[in-house]
Order: sequence, then structure tokens, then C-alpha cells
Amino acid sequence: MEGIRSDMNETIALIMACIAPLGAWFISSFFKKRKTLALIVFLILSTPALWISLNYPLILLTVLGLTITLFLIVDQQELIKSNTLKEEEEKKEILSSFNKEKDVFDRIAATEREFASLYMVIKILSETFDFKNVSSLVKDKISGYLGSKSVSMFLIDGQEIEKFFGEVDISQIINKAAMFEREDFIFLGQEALYAFRENGFILFFFHISGFDLNKEILKEKLENLSLEIFPAIKRISLFKKIDKLSVVDGLTGVYRRGVFDEKLAEEISRSKTFKTRLALMILDIDHFKRINDTYGHQAGDQVLKKIAKVLKDSVYETDFIARYGGEEFAVIMPRAQKEGTLRKAEHIRKLIENEVFDVGVEKIRITISAGIAHYPDNATTLKDLISNADSALYKAKESGRNRICQY
Ligand code: GH3
Ligand code: MG
Ligand code: MG
Repeated sequence: MEGIRSDMNETIALIMACIAPLGAWFISSFFKKRKTLALIVFLILSTPALWISLNYPLILLTVLGLTITLFLIVDQQELIKSNTLKEEEEKKEILSSFNKEKDVFDRIAATEREFASLYMVIKILSETFDFKNVSSLVKDKISGYLGSKSVSMFLIDGQEIEKFFGEVDISQIINKAAMFEREDFIFLGQEALYAFRENGFILFFFHISGFDLNKEILKEKLENLSLEIFPAIKRISLFKKIDKLSVVDGLTGVYRRGVFDEKLAEEISRSKTFKTRLALMILDIDHFKRINDTYGHQAGDQVLKKIAKVLKDSVYETDFIARYGGEEFAVIMPRAQKEGTLRKAEHIRKLIENEVFDVGVEKIRITISAGIAHYPDNATTLKDLISNADSALYKAKESGRNRICQY
């Protein structure tokens, strides 16, 4: 009987001894930081086993060894786990702060790009006297500032609406623009219009489509843009008005067509009175359209300027040069003899033929054709004299250009 009980005790001690560390391990791993609880469980579970197993030092040592090992493993795992968790959290934090910074930088870069575009618009407008020359540049920069695919701008002078730049024509949006009577900002979802007023009158307005901005931001940007460019627009408009009133052509510095007509009438009547001769030369640049088409309008303007200078430097003080048409010049030569006029015209033709014109990217050569008519040999009235010089010019063009023809 005693032997059986002792056997039983031994078995129970063995089982308890095994369960004790397992129970402790189970608790400490499932309840993570409950190490104290795990120790208590271990002690409770292992007390009877310890008591019995005092007689069995080997079992006692094994159990203790196992327990310590298990505790160490659990501890190590927890340490690793908490370290990885910490690392991940740190990584997340770094990533989110990096993303935040990137957002800020992106926003700053976008704002800077916008301001650079706006600055360029103001700079371009402040350096010109002519809307025509800068329209495509201004359009690009304003598109950049607004971030919209299509922008058109219209200038209003009294009753006249003039397109400054853009894809749409006034006829396409005139009905919508009529809404300006009620408000300055017309938002139609896919497109928008904005008018800038001075003293109640619209000075210019925009039509925009293909944009990403919401109504409020778009309106604010258009307001800012308009306020910034308004002084330059006003200055160019004023210059245009003054230029119209001037007797001299703004680009070339020679007289305008209107003044030319008066001057020719005056010279004819003087020739009549004093029985003197008079020559009229009309000069036209050969294939000028090609220069505009190839090198741009501004290059064309530079050519016109230079040709006007060659003319001014070549004729007498008493001669009168005018810009007769777009790329045509007229020279009135009072008291000129036929041969002398032809020699002078040939001299001018050769000067221009030999001149090198700098059109930015390239240096080019240009030729002119001219027609001459004489008073009183070819005509005695203003109308006939002009018409005869014109037909001589036509003949020069017809017979191959780069030549002078007399009527
Ligand atoms: P042609 O030899 O027959 O005279 O040919 P062309 O190309 O010179 O003549 P055309 O009449 O076909 O073209 C004249 C061009 O002159 C067209 C127009 O754009 C240009 N033009 C007229 N006024 C100006 C101006 O003020 N500035 C510039 N850049 N171009 C102008
Ligand atoms: Mg012409
Ligand atoms: Mg021409």
C-alpha cells in the first residue's frame, strides 16, 4: 500500500512538475506582460511537486532547468517582438513625416511655378508697346499660371472687342459674355469667363476651359492676374491710341499713309505752280510673307525697321518717305530727274540686296521690287500718279522681282 502511494506521489509530482512550467509559459506568452502572474501560477502548480520531488533531486533540477529555459525563451521573443514593433512604428513615423514634407515641397514648387509664370506675364507686358508681338508668349504664361488647357483674352476699347490671344473667337462666346451685365465671374462648370472693370467699364476679359481648379480658387487667381496685368494693359492701350494719332509710323519711324496722301497732294500742287518735276517710287519687299512665316512676326518687324533706315539714309532731306502699306514704302522725290531717280532707286535696291538681316536665329538676305512714276510725264493727278507707280511695281514683280521698273 505504502509503495503504491509513493508510486502515485511520484507520478503526480512528475505530472505537476511538467505542468508547472508549461502553465507558467502559457500564461506569460498569452498574457504577454503578466510575468508575475506566471510566476505565481508556476509556484502554486509546482509546490506539491516540489514537496514530493525533494526526494527526487534529478526531477527537481530538470523542472527548474526547463522553467528557466522557457522563461528565457519567452522573454527573448517578447524583446524581439517589441523591438520589431518599435522599429515599424519608427519607420511609419519617418515615412509619414517625409510624405508631409514632400507635400509641402510640392506645394511650394507649384506655387513658385505659378508665380514665375505670373511674373513673366507682367515682365513681357511691361516691355512691349504692341499686343500683337507678345500674344503667344503671354498666352503660354497665363495658361501656365492658371493651369488651364485653353485660355483666350479679349480687350475692349469703347465699342470694339479685340482678341488678344486664344483659341476661341468672340462670336463663339458673345452670348455668354453678355452675362457680364450681371456679374464679372461666370462659372459654367466646364468653362468660365472673367471680366476686369475700370470705372465700371470692362477693360478686358478672359475665357477659360479645361481647368482643374474649383470655382473659388479660379476666381481668386483670375482676380490676382487681372490686378497684376491691368497697369501694363492700360499702358499698351494708351500707347496704341497715341500711336494712331501720330503722324509717324511707330515701328519704322517714317510717315504714315494718311500723311503721305496729304504730302503728295501738296507736292503735286507745288510742282504745278513752279512747273517742276516730281517722282513717286513705291517699293515692296519680295516674299515678305515667308519671312514672317519662317522667323515670326517680330523678325518681320525688324526687317521693316531696317529697310526704313536704309531708305532714310539714302534719300535727300527734302524727299519724303512713308509706310504705304504693311510692307510697302513710298518715297516722294520732288524735283527729281528721271535718270537720277532710277539711279537712286537702283542704289537702294542694291543696298538692300547686300544687307544682312539678323532675324535672331539666322542671318538672311532680302530683296525689294519698286515701281516709279513721274509727274508730269506719266500722270498729273495724285490718283493717277499712285496708280502708275503701282502698275510699275506690279511689272517689277511680274518680271522676276528684285528690280526697279519705271512706268
Ligand atoms: P511679294 O514678293 O509678291 O510682295 O510677296 P510678299 O510675301 O511680300 O507679299 P504679300 O502681299 O503676299 O505679303 C505681305 C506680307 O507682309 C503679309 C503680311 O503679313 C506682312 N506684313 C504686313 N504688315 C506687316 C507688319 O507690320 N509687320 C510684319 N512683320 N509683317 C507685315
Ligand atoms: Mg505688298
Ligand atoms: Mg511684298
